[in-house]
Amino acid sequence: MAAKRDYYDILGVEKNASAEEIKKAYRRTAIKYHPDKNPGDKEAEEKFKEAAEAYEVLSNPDKRARYDRFGHQGVNNGGFGSGGVNMEDIFSQFGDIFGGSPFGDIFGSGRRSTRRKGTNLRIKLKLTLQEIANGVEKKIKVRRQVACKSCEGTGAKNGTSFTNCTTCNGSGQIKQVVNTMLGQMVSASTCPACGGEGKIISERCGSCGGDGTTLEEEVIPIKIPAGVEEGMQLQMNGKGNFPPRGGVPGDLLVVIEEEEDALLKREGTNVHFDLHLSFIDAVLGTSVEVPTIDGKAKIDIAAGTQSGKVLRLKGKGIKELNGYGTGDQLVHVNIWTPKNLTKEERALLEKLRDSPNFKPNPDKADRSFFDRMREYFQ
Ligand SMILES: [Zn+2]
Ligand SMILES: [Zn+2]
Repeated sequence: MAAKRDYYDILGVEKNASAEEIKKAYRRTAIKYHPDKNPGDKEAEEKFKEAAEAYEVLSNPDKRARYDRFGHQGVNNGGFGSGGVNMEDIFSQFGDIFGGSPFGDIFGSGRRSTRRKGTNLRIKLKLTLQEIANGVEKKIKVRRQVACKSCEGTGAKNGTSFTNCTTCNGSGQIKQVVNTMLGQMVSASTCPACGGEGKIISERCGSCGGDGTTLEEEVIPIKIPAGVEEGMQLQMNGKGNFPPRGGVPGDLLVVIEEEEDALLKREGTNVHFDLHLSFIDAVLGTSVEVPTIDGKAKIDIAAGTQSGKVLRLKGKGIKELNGYGTGDQLVHVNIWTPKNLTKEERALLEKLRDSPNFKPNPDKADRSFFDRMREYFQ
C-alpha cells in the first residue's frame, strides 16, 4: 500500500480551514468520487474512501489536533474499514447526499450497498487451564464465504457484466405518485426487479454462479489474552462471511470453553488444589510436591498441621483479564484416614489412643472450618 496522503491535501483545503470549509470540501469530494457515479472505477472508489477517512479525522476537533501534532501516527487506527472509521456516523451527517432528497436519485443504492454486511460466524474454542492462565496464540480453521476472486464479489462475469435495471432506471427504488387531498405525495419502495441494487447481472460469473462468494477453508491466527473465562466471546472483525454480491464481511465470534483440569480447579483468578496428607505426615511435618498450572511446586508442611488448613501459593494463579494482578493457588490440606489396617498397625495405634497428646484440644489458632469459610467468602 502506498504511503498515506496528507488529509488536508486529500480534501484540498488549507491547514487552517474552518470546520465548515472542511465539511464543504468533503461533500464536494464525496460527490465527485461516489462509487455510484463511477461504477467499476477502482481509483475513484479509493479516493472516495480516502476522503471519508480524511473527513473522519479532520471533522473531529480532538482527532484533528492529534493529527496536526503527530501526523498519521497520532490517529492511526488501522485505517478505513477496519473499525477506525464509522461509516454510519459519516452518512448520518450527510444524509442529504446519500439518503434522500436532492441527490437521492443520483446515488440510489450507494448508502445501502456500502453498509451491507455478511453474516457472522461463531465457533467454539476449547482451552486448557494452562492456556487460559498464560494466554495463547491459536490457529483456528474456519469455512467461510469469501469474495469470489473471478468477479471480485459482484457475481457478474469479470465483475463488469451489469445492465441498469430498467424497472427502476438504476435507482433501486420505485416511486409512486399518489393523489391525496393535500396534493400529490410520493412514496418510494425498494425495486422488486433488482432488489434495490439498481443493476442487474447480464452475465453471471462462472466461478461462483452469480452469488459473488465462494466457500473457503481458512486458517486464522487468534491471540487469546490470559484470564478469559468460559462463555466469553472474542470478536474478530471482518472474519465472518462475505455477503452475496458485494459488501463487507461479517465478524467471527470465538466462544471460549474451559477444559476441566484433572487436578486443579479454577475459581476466578485463583486455582484450588486438594492435598491429601497422611495422618503421620501431618503430625510430624514433611515436604510435598504439588501440581501447579505451570508444573510443580514444593511446599513445607509444618509439624502439627490441621486438616482443612489452606496454604497459599502467591501468584501461582491466573492473570487478571486486561489487568495487572495474578491470582493465587490455594492448597487445601485433607488428612487421609486409613481404611484398612494390619494387626501390627492396629496394635500400634491402640497404644497411642489414650496418650494425652492425642486427645483433641483445639486452641484459638486452630479455628473451625466455619471460621475459615467466613474468611474466604468475605
Ligand atoms: Zn430496479
Ligand atoms: Zn464470481
